[in-house]
Amino acid sequence: MSKQAQLIQALKQEGTGAAVLSDPVSINYLTGFYSDPHERLMLLFLFADTEPLLFLPELDALRAKSIVDFPVVGYIDSENPWAKIKSLLAKTDYSKVALEFDHLNVSKFKGLEHIFSGQFTDLTPLINQMRLIKSPDEIRKLLIAGGLADKAVQIGFDHISLDACETDIIAQIEFGMKKQGVDKMSFETMVLTGSNAANPHGIPANNKIENNSLLLFDLGVESKGYVSDMTRTVAVGQPDPFKKDIYNICLEAQLTALDFIKPGVTAAQVDQAARAVIEKAGYGEYFNHRLGHGIGMSVHEFPSIMAGNDLVLEEGMCFSVEPGIYIPEKVGVRIEDCGYVTKNGFEVFTKTPKELLYF
Ligand code: MN
Ligand code: MN
Repeated sequence: MSKQAQLIQALKQEGTGAAVLSDPVSINYLTGFYSDPHERLMLLFLFADTEPLLFLPELDALRAKSIVDFPVVGYIDSENPWAKIKSLLAKTDYSKVALEFDHLNVSKFKGLEHIFSGQFTDLTPLINQMRLIKSPDEIRKLLIAGGLADKAVQIGFDHISLDACETDIIAQIEFGMKKQGVDKMSFETMVLTGSNAANPHGIPANNKIENNSLLLFDLGVESKGYVSDMTRTVAVGQPDPFKKDIYNICLEAQLTALDFIKPGVTAAQVDQAARAVIEKAGYGEYFNHRLGHGIGMSVHEFPSIMAGNDLVLEEGMCFSVEPGIYIPEKVGVRIEDCGYVTKNGFEVFTKTPKELLYF
């Protein structure tokens, strides 16, 4: 059954007559068509009793029509999109209409209030639940995106130089990926040297790569609508034994968690498996974020791998495992792979080696 059919079936079961999707990522998930409409209006209408409608800016209509197999209607900038939508819909008096509460903004909500008369319910939990378990086809796409991240980080490694600054290396990585046909990185590439890596959300700048220090790469690429996200920390020169110790503790935490994951364990238990290693070594307070986040069409989605999340993991769930140790002014290490839960374990999408690499 298609994802659209699955969603419509779930809506029918709860007596919801119509759903309106506004998040371009959700629309892509359900139709295979992606566009960022910026400030313009793009809505996907799904109905329990009639065929769907994709309503969007006219400049995207032709491409959408070549991808989806149901009515697509465009509007031009000088038209009133809400009046046009109202004229297109045969029926608007559904008792329940589901909207993406986490995405829809207030002005679009007001527009929809003028069209539908029923009660508005939240579609976000249902979409999140559907996106939680990836199909084999989605996992294939995530593996391709992961393979491209491996290539991207290798380009970064190839450009490590004491003459370069963080942003020089980022420019080389992104230039190299563009040349390979990658449309875009899945988030802003991070290359952080020395103590700048000690800030989990450090900002790359014109800092020269430090010698005898650790260098952190956090990057991902987007491919066919699916994204990757990986972090590697490498040695430049000969970091002192303390830095190497911190690296090895972080690596042990990551490998312990990767080994622990299988269907039936909870997200909180996975987080704890990694955290226990870092706590035992005495650095628990310096691992100050959750172990991981779901990944798919978005870089951050469900499930959240953290304390308090008792979600039981199932085959097909995809998420990151990214312990970090950040000691302010001194050293920062993070090691991150995303992967998917298999029948009896966990397979990663990114394969770049993890023993400490020296440059
Ligand atoms: Mn991540
Ligand atoms: Mn990352």
